[in-house]
Amino acid sequence: MIFEHLDTYGHEQVVFCHNKDVGLKAIIAIHNTVLGPALGGTRMWPYESEQDALNDVLRLSRGMTYKNAVAGLNIGGGKAVIIGDPATDKSEGLFRAFGQFVESLGGRYITAEDVGIDVNDMEFVYRETQFVTGVHQVHGGSGDPSPFTAYGTMQGLLASLNRKFGNEDVGNYSYAVQGLGHVGIEFVKLLKERGAKIFVTDINKDRVERAVSEYGAEAVGLDEIYDVDADVYSPCALGGTVNEKTLPRLKAKIICGAANNQLANNAIGDEVERRGILYAPDYAVNAGGVMNVSLEIDGYNRERAMRMMRTIYHNLTRIFEISQRDGIPTYMAADRLAEERIEIMGKLKLPL
Ligand code: NAD
Repeated sequence: MIFEHLDTYGHEQVVFCHNKDVGLKAIIAIHNTVLGPALGGTRMWPYESEQDALNDVLRLSRGMTYKNAVAGLNIGGGKAVIIGDPATDKSEGLFRAFGQFVESLGGRYITAEDVGIDVNDMEFVYRETQFVTGVHQVHGGSGDPSPFTAYGTMQGLLASLNRKFGNEDVGNYSYAVQGLGHVGIEFVKLLKERGAKIFVTDINKDRVERAVSEYGAEAVGLDEIYDVDADVYSPCALGGTVNEKTLPRLKAKIICGAANNQLANNAIGDEVERRGILYAPDYAVNAGGVMNVSLEIDGYNRERAMRMMRTIYHNLTRIFEISQRDGIPTYMAADRLAEERIEIMGKLKLPL
Protein backbone atom coordinates (compact mmCIF):
# COMPACT_ATOMS: atom_id res chain seq x y z
CA MET A 1 0.00 0.00 0.00
CA ILE A 2 2.65 2.54 1.03
CA PHE A 3 5.03 1.56 -1.78
CA GLU A 4 2.21 1.90 -4.32
CA HIS A 5 1.65 5.39 -3.00
CA LEU A 6 5.32 6.22 -3.45
CA ASP A 7 5.18 4.91 -7.03
CA THR A 8 2.30 7.26 -7.85
CA TYR A 9 4.35 10.32 -7.09
CA GLY A 10 7.77 8.84 -7.91
CA HIS A 11 9.39 9.51 -4.53
CA GLU A 12 12.99 8.53 -3.94
CA GLN A 13 12.86 8.09 -0.19
CA VAL A 14 10.43 8.47 2.68
CA VAL A 15 11.66 8.37 6.26
CA PHE A 16 9.43 7.77 9.26
CA CYS A 17 10.93 9.39 12.34
CA HIS A 18 9.87 8.22 15.77
CA ASN A 19 11.14 9.06 19.25
CA LYS A 20 8.64 8.18 21.93
CA ASP A 21 10.62 9.82 24.75
CA VAL A 22 9.94 13.25 23.26
CA GLY A 23 6.69 12.36 21.46
CA LEU A 24 8.12 12.81 17.97
CA LYS A 25 6.21 11.38 15.05
CA ALA A 26 7.44 12.86 11.80
CA ILE A 27 7.76 11.94 8.14
CA ILE A 28 10.45 13.26 5.83
CA ALA A 29 9.73 12.81 2.13
CA ILE A 30 12.48 13.22 -0.45
CA HIS A 31 10.77 13.41 -3.80
CA ASN A 32 13.55 14.13 -6.25
CA THR A 33 17.25 14.99 -5.94
CA VAL A 34 18.22 15.12 -9.62
CA LEU A 35 18.87 18.87 -9.41
CA GLY A 36 20.43 18.78 -5.95
CA PRO A 37 19.64 18.14 -2.29
CA ALA A 38 15.93 18.17 -1.48
CA LEU A 39 14.88 21.46 0.12
CA GLY A 40 11.49 22.09 1.65
CA GLY A 41 9.96 23.20 4.92
CA THR A 42 8.75 21.26 7.90
CA ARG A 43 5.06 21.57 8.71
CA MET A 44 3.65 20.87 12.17
CA TRP A 45 -0.03 20.00 12.13
CA PRO A 46 -2.47 17.94 14.24
CA TYR A 47 -3.28 15.52 11.43
CA GLU A 48 -6.36 13.40 12.06
CA SER A 49 -4.57 10.27 10.92
CA GLU A 50 -1.10 9.09 9.98
CA GLN A 51 -2.41 8.50 6.47
CA ASP A 52 -3.40 12.18 6.22
CA ALA A 53 0.11 13.17 7.30
CA LEU A 54 1.66 10.84 4.72
CA ASN A 55 -0.61 12.13 1.94
CA ASP A 56 0.26 15.71 2.82
CA VAL A 57 4.03 15.20 2.92
CA LEU A 58 4.02 13.27 -0.37
CA ARG A 59 1.97 15.94 -2.13
CA LEU A 60 3.92 18.86 -0.69
CA SER A 61 7.37 17.37 -1.37
CA ARG A 62 6.45 16.71 -5.00
CA GLY A 63 5.28 20.32 -5.23
CA MET A 64 8.70 21.46 -3.99
CA THR A 65 10.45 19.55 -6.79
CA TYR A 66 8.43 21.49 -9.35
CA LYS A 67 8.77 24.82 -7.58
CA ASN A 68 12.54 24.53 -7.14
CA ALA A 69 13.02 23.33 -10.72
CA VAL A 70 11.03 26.20 -12.25
CA ALA A 71 12.84 28.65 -9.99
CA GLY A 72 16.07 27.57 -11.69
CA LEU A 73 17.59 26.36 -8.44
CA ASN A 74 20.07 23.50 -8.26
CA ILE A 75 17.90 22.02 -5.59
CA GLY A 76 15.52 19.09 -5.46
CA GLY A 77 12.19 18.70 -3.72
CA GLY A 78 11.44 17.47 -0.23
CA LYS A 79 9.24 18.25 2.73
CA ALA A 80 8.69 17.08 6.29
CA VAL A 81 5.66 16.92 8.55
CA ILE A 82 5.59 16.62 12.32
CA ILE A 83 2.34 15.17 13.64
CA GLY A 84 1.29 17.36 16.57
CA ASP A 85 -0.44 20.50 17.68
CA PRO A 86 1.86 23.53 17.38
CA ALA A 87 -0.03 25.20 20.24
CA THR A 88 0.59 22.43 22.80
CA ASP A 89 3.08 19.82 21.59
CA LYS A 90 6.27 21.79 20.98
CA SER A 91 9.39 21.14 23.06
CA GLU A 92 13.15 21.46 22.78
CA GLY A 93 13.46 17.66 22.84
CA LEU A 94 11.00 17.21 20.00
CA PHE A 95 12.78 19.60 17.67
CA ARG A 96 16.26 18.36 18.60
CA ALA A 97 15.19 14.76 17.97
CA PHE A 98 13.78 15.87 14.62
CA GLY A 99 17.06 17.66 13.88
CA GLN A 100 18.94 14.40 14.51
CA PHE A 101 16.83 12.65 11.89
CA VAL A 102 17.52 15.43 9.40
CA GLU A 103 21.24 15.15 10.18
CA SER A 104 21.14 11.38 9.67
CA LEU A 105 20.24 11.94 6.01
CA GLY A 106 23.64 13.53 5.47
CA GLY A 107 22.38 16.54 3.50
CA ARG A 108 20.02 14.75 1.11
CA TYR A 109 17.24 16.74 2.79
CA ILE A 110 17.54 20.36 3.94
CA THR A 111 14.75 21.70 6.07
CA ALA A 112 13.16 25.12 6.63
CA GLU A 113 10.12 26.65 8.32
CA ASP A 114 6.58 25.98 7.20
CA VAL A 115 3.10 26.18 8.72
CA GLY A 116 3.18 25.75 12.51
CA ILE A 117 6.95 26.21 12.81
CA ASP A 118 8.82 29.38 13.71
CA VAL A 119 12.39 30.57 13.88
CA ASN A 120 12.67 29.60 17.58
CA ASP A 121 11.82 25.97 16.77
CA MET A 122 14.43 26.04 14.04
CA GLU A 123 17.05 27.13 16.60
CA PHE A 124 16.62 23.72 18.28
CA VAL A 125 16.78 21.87 14.97
CA TYR A 126 19.93 23.87 14.14
CA ARG A 127 21.67 22.57 17.29
CA GLU A 128 21.54 19.07 15.85
CA THR A 129 22.07 19.62 12.17
CA GLN A 130 23.65 22.00 9.71
CA PHE A 131 21.07 21.01 7.09
CA VAL A 132 18.60 23.69 8.01
CA THR A 133 17.73 27.06 6.48
CA GLY A 134 15.53 29.87 7.77
CA VAL A 135 17.41 30.13 11.04
CA HIS A 136 17.90 33.47 12.74
CA GLN A 137 20.01 36.09 11.01
CA VAL A 138 22.67 35.85 13.76
CA HIS A 139 23.44 32.35 12.44
CA GLY A 140 23.70 33.55 8.86
CA GLY A 141 20.00 33.07 8.17
CA SER A 142 18.09 35.21 5.70
CA GLY A 143 15.27 36.44 7.97
CA ASP A 144 11.66 36.99 6.93
CA PRO A 145 11.29 36.02 3.25
CA SER A 146 8.01 37.89 2.75
CA PRO A 147 9.39 41.14 1.28
CA PHE A 148 11.35 39.03 -1.21
CA THR A 149 8.27 37.02 -2.04
CA ALA A 150 6.37 40.27 -2.64
CA TYR A 151 9.16 41.59 -4.85
CA GLY A 152 9.19 38.30 -6.76
CA THR A 153 5.43 38.55 -7.17
CA MET A 154 5.95 41.99 -8.71
CA GLN A 155 8.38 40.45 -11.21
CA GLY A 156 5.74 37.86 -12.08
CA LEU A 157 3.20 40.64 -12.50
CA LEU A 158 5.46 42.60 -14.87
CA ALA A 159 5.90 39.53 -17.07
CA SER A 160 2.13 38.94 -17.00
CA LEU A 161 1.28 42.54 -17.92
CA ASN A 162 3.75 42.37 -20.74
CA ARG A 163 2.22 39.16 -22.01
CA LYS A 164 -1.38 40.30 -21.73
CA PHE A 165 -1.21 44.00 -22.56
CA GLY A 166 2.17 44.42 -24.26
CA ASN A 167 3.42 46.88 -21.65
CA GLU A 168 4.59 46.86 -18.04
CA ASP A 169 2.93 50.05 -16.81
CA VAL A 170 1.73 48.77 -13.44
CA GLY A 171 0.16 52.16 -12.68
CA ASN A 172 -2.17 51.95 -15.70
CA TYR A 173 -4.08 49.04 -14.23
CA SER A 174 -6.21 48.19 -11.20
CA TYR A 175 -5.68 45.39 -8.72
CA ALA A 176 -7.80 43.34 -6.33
CA VAL A 177 -5.48 42.14 -3.55
CA GLN A 178 -6.95 39.47 -1.29
CA GLY A 179 -4.99 39.08 1.95
CA LEU A 180 -2.80 41.71 3.56
CA GLY A 181 -0.48 39.55 5.63
CA HIS A 182 3.29 39.44 5.44
CA VAL A 183 3.37 39.24 1.65
CA GLY A 184 0.11 40.99 0.72
CA ILE A 185 0.85 44.29 2.44
CA GLU A 186 4.35 44.41 0.93
CA PHE A 187 2.87 43.76 -2.48
CA VAL A 188 0.34 46.57 -1.99
CA LYS A 189 3.23 48.86 -1.10
CA LEU A 190 5.03 47.97 -4.35
CA LEU A 191 1.83 48.54 -6.33
CA LYS A 192 1.31 51.92 -4.68
CA GLU A 193 4.88 52.99 -5.47
CA ARG A 194 4.03 52.40 -9.13
CA GLY A 195 0.83 54.45 -8.93
CA ALA A 196 -1.70 51.63 -9.15
CA LYS A 197 -5.38 51.67 -8.23
CA ILE A 198 -5.75 49.03 -5.50
CA PHE A 199 -8.76 47.27 -3.95
CA VAL A 200 -8.03 45.28 -0.81
CA THR A 201 -9.67 42.90 1.60
CA ASP A 202 -8.64 40.94 4.69
CA ILE A 203 -10.31 39.28 7.67
CA ASN A 204 -8.09 41.41 9.85
CA LYS A 205 -9.51 44.96 10.02
CA ASP A 206 -6.25 46.55 11.22
CA ARG A 207 -4.45 45.31 8.14
CA VAL A 208 -7.17 46.70 5.88
CA GLU A 209 -6.97 50.01 7.73
CA ARG A 210 -3.23 50.14 7.18
CA ALA A 211 -3.57 49.47 3.45
CA VAL A 212 -6.15 52.26 3.22
CA SER A 213 -4.32 54.87 5.30
CA GLU A 214 -0.73 54.17 4.23
CA TYR A 215 -1.21 53.10 0.64
CA GLY A 216 -4.46 54.73 -0.41
CA ALA A 217 -6.15 51.41 -1.18
CA GLU A 218 -9.92 51.05 -1.37
CA ALA A 219 -11.35 48.53 1.10
CA VAL A 220 -13.97 46.05 -0.09
CA GLY A 221 -15.80 43.20 1.67
CA LEU A 222 -14.34 39.71 1.96
CA ASP A 223 -16.64 38.30 -0.69
CA GLU A 224 -16.85 41.48 -2.75
CA ILE A 225 -13.22 41.12 -3.84
CA TYR A 226 -14.37 38.70 -6.57
CA ASP A 227 -16.73 41.27 -8.09
CA VAL A 228 -14.62 44.40 -8.22
CA ASP A 229 -13.77 45.86 -11.56
CA ALA A 230 -10.03 45.23 -11.44
CA ASP A 231 -7.65 44.22 -14.22
CA VAL A 232 -5.66 41.89 -11.99
CA TYR A 233 -6.86 39.55 -9.25
CA SER A 234 -4.07 38.93 -6.78
CA PRO A 235 -4.72 36.14 -4.26
CA CYS A 236 -2.35 36.62 -1.32
CA ALA A 237 -4.26 34.78 1.42
CA LEU A 238 -5.44 31.21 1.08
CA GLY A 239 -5.42 28.53 -1.60
CA GLY A 240 -8.38 27.39 -3.71
CA THR A 241 -9.88 30.85 -4.20
CA VAL A 242 -10.14 30.42 -7.98
CA ASN A 243 -12.99 27.93 -8.13
CA GLU A 244 -16.35 27.16 -9.76
CA LYS A 245 -18.11 29.81 -7.70
CA THR A 246 -15.62 32.67 -7.95
CA LEU A 247 -14.30 32.35 -11.49
CA PRO A 248 -17.54 33.43 -13.26
CA ARG A 249 -17.51 36.56 -11.09
CA LEU A 250 -13.95 37.67 -11.84
CA LYS A 251 -13.57 40.56 -14.25
CA ALA A 252 -9.78 40.41 -14.11
CA LYS A 253 -7.74 39.63 -17.19
CA ILE A 254 -4.78 38.41 -15.16
CA ILE A 255 -4.52 36.28 -12.02
CA CYS A 256 -1.19 36.86 -10.31
CA GLY A 257 -0.59 36.59 -6.59
CA ALA A 258 1.51 34.98 -3.89
CA ALA A 259 -0.89 32.44 -2.39
CA ASN A 260 -0.14 28.74 -2.80
CA ASN A 261 -2.50 26.42 -4.72
CA GLN A 262 -4.74 29.19 -6.08
CA LEU A 263 -6.59 26.96 -8.53
CA ALA A 264 -9.17 24.71 -6.83
CA ASN A 265 -8.36 22.00 -9.38
CA ASN A 266 -6.94 21.48 -12.87
CA ALA A 267 -10.36 21.77 -14.55
CA ILE A 268 -10.57 25.32 -13.20
CA GLY A 269 -7.14 25.99 -14.68
CA ASP A 270 -8.48 24.88 -18.05
CA GLU A 271 -11.53 27.10 -17.66
CA VAL A 272 -9.38 30.12 -16.72
CA GLU A 273 -7.50 29.60 -19.98
CA ARG A 274 -10.72 29.14 -21.97
CA ARG A 275 -12.01 32.46 -20.65
CA GLY A 276 -8.89 34.21 -21.88
CA ILE A 277 -7.63 35.07 -18.41
CA LEU A 278 -3.87 34.88 -18.06
CA TYR A 279 -2.98 32.79 -15.02
CA ALA A 280 0.53 33.33 -13.68
CA PRO A 281 1.24 29.95 -12.05
CA ASP A 282 1.42 30.43 -8.29
CA TYR A 283 4.50 28.38 -7.54
CA ALA A 284 6.52 30.21 -10.19
CA VAL A 285 5.32 33.62 -8.94
CA ASN A 286 5.84 33.00 -5.22
CA ALA A 287 9.24 31.31 -5.46
CA GLY A 288 10.92 34.30 -3.79
CA GLY A 289 10.74 32.65 -0.37
CA VAL A 290 12.46 29.45 -1.39
CA MET A 291 14.99 31.32 -3.53
CA ASN A 292 15.88 33.40 -0.52
CA VAL A 293 16.43 30.49 1.86
CA SER A 294 18.28 28.51 -0.82
CA LEU A 295 21.00 31.14 -0.73
CA GLU A 296 21.71 30.25 2.89
CA ILE A 297 23.15 26.95 1.75
CA ASP A 298 26.36 28.52 0.48
CA GLY A 299 26.32 31.81 2.38
CA TYR A 300 23.47 34.30 2.30
CA ASN A 301 23.86 37.53 0.40
CA ARG A 302 21.07 40.07 -0.04
CA GLU A 303 22.35 41.37 -3.37
CA ARG A 304 22.29 37.89 -4.83
CA ALA A 305 18.81 37.41 -3.41
CA MET A 306 17.45 40.51 -5.15
CA ARG A 307 19.07 39.49 -8.44
CA MET A 308 17.58 36.04 -8.11
CA MET A 309 14.07 37.43 -7.54
CA ARG A 310 14.29 39.18 -10.89
CA THR A 311 14.69 35.82 -12.64
CA ILE A 312 11.03 35.19 -11.79
CA TYR A 313 10.19 37.55 -14.66
CA HIS A 314 12.05 35.30 -17.10
CA ASN A 315 10.62 32.12 -15.62
CA LEU A 316 7.10 33.43 -16.17
CA THR A 317 7.93 34.56 -19.70
CA ARG A 318 9.25 31.08 -20.45
CA ILE A 319 6.09 29.49 -19.04
CA PHE A 320 3.90 31.70 -21.24
CA GLU A 321 6.02 30.74 -24.26
CA ILE A 322 5.67 27.02 -23.50
CA SER A 323 1.93 27.49 -23.06
CA GLN A 324 1.75 28.99 -26.54
CA ARG A 325 4.24 26.55 -28.09
CA ASP A 326 2.39 23.48 -26.86
CA GLY A 327 -1.15 24.88 -26.81
CA ILE A 328 -1.63 24.11 -23.12
CA PRO A 329 -2.85 26.15 -20.15
CA THR A 330 -0.18 28.01 -18.21
CA TYR A 331 -0.53 25.87 -15.07
CA MET A 332 0.41 22.86 -17.21
CA ALA A 333 3.19 24.76 -18.94
CA ALA A 334 4.81 25.46 -15.57
CA ASP A 335 4.88 21.72 -14.80
CA ARG A 336 6.32 21.06 -18.23
CA LEU A 337 9.09 23.60 -17.71
CA ALA A 338 10.00 21.85 -14.45
CA GLU A 339 9.94 18.38 -16.01
CA GLU A 340 12.03 19.49 -18.99
CA ARG A 341 14.65 21.04 -16.76
CA ILE A 342 14.89 17.97 -14.52
CA GLU A 343 15.14 15.70 -17.55
CA ILE A 344 17.91 17.71 -19.20
CA MET A 345 19.89 18.21 -16.00
CA GLY A 346 19.49 14.51 -15.23
CA LYS A 347 21.21 13.72 -18.52
CA LEU A 348 24.13 16.03 -17.86
CA LYS A 349 26.84 13.86 -16.39
CA LEU A 350 29.06 16.46 -14.82
CA PRO A 351 32.59 15.39 -13.83
CA LEU A 352 32.96 14.79 -10.11
P1 NAD B 1 0.01 35.61 6.37
O1 NAD B 1 -0.59 34.58 7.25
O2 NAD B 1 0.97 36.59 6.93
O3 NAD B 1 -1.15 36.45 5.66
C1 NAD B 1 -2.33 35.90 5.18
C2 NAD B 1 -3.39 37.01 5.28
O4 NAD B 1 -4.57 36.55 4.65
C3 NAD B 1 -3.75 37.36 6.73
O5 NAD B 1 -3.69 38.77 6.89
C4 NAD B 1 -5.16 36.82 6.88
O6 NAD B 1 -5.94 37.55 7.78
C5 NAD B 1 -5.67 36.94 5.46
N1 NAD B 1 -6.79 36.08 5.14
C6 NAD B 1 -7.03 34.81 5.52
N2 NAD B 1 -8.19 34.36 5.00
C7 NAD B 1 -8.68 35.37 4.25
C8 NAD B 1 -9.85 35.52 3.46
N3 NAD B 1 -10.73 34.54 3.32
N4 NAD B 1 -10.04 36.69 2.82
C9 NAD B 1 -9.16 37.70 2.96
N5 NAD B 1 -8.05 37.61 3.71
C10 NAD B 1 -7.81 36.47 4.34
O7 NAD B 1 0.67 34.79 5.16
P2 NAD B 1 1.78 35.31 4.14
O8 NAD B 1 3.11 34.90 4.62
O9 NAD B 1 1.52 36.73 3.78
O10 NAD B 1 1.45 34.37 2.89
C11 NAD B 1 0.34 34.62 2.07
C12 NAD B 1 0.20 33.51 1.04
O11 NAD B 1 1.39 33.43 0.26
C13 NAD B 1 0.01 32.11 1.63
O12 NAD B 1 -0.81 31.36 0.77
C14 NAD B 1 1.41 31.55 1.64
O13 NAD B 1 1.41 30.13 1.60
C15 NAD B 1 1.96 32.13 0.35
N6 NAD B 1 3.42 32.25 0.33
C16 NAD B 1 4.07 33.03 1.23
C17 NAD B 1 5.45 33.14 1.18
C18 NAD B 1 6.20 34.02 2.15
O14 NAD B 1 7.36 34.35 1.88
N7 NAD B 1 5.61 34.44 3.24
C19 NAD B 1 6.19 32.45 0.20
C20 NAD B 1 5.50 31.66 -0.72
C21 NAD B 1 4.11 31.57 -0.64
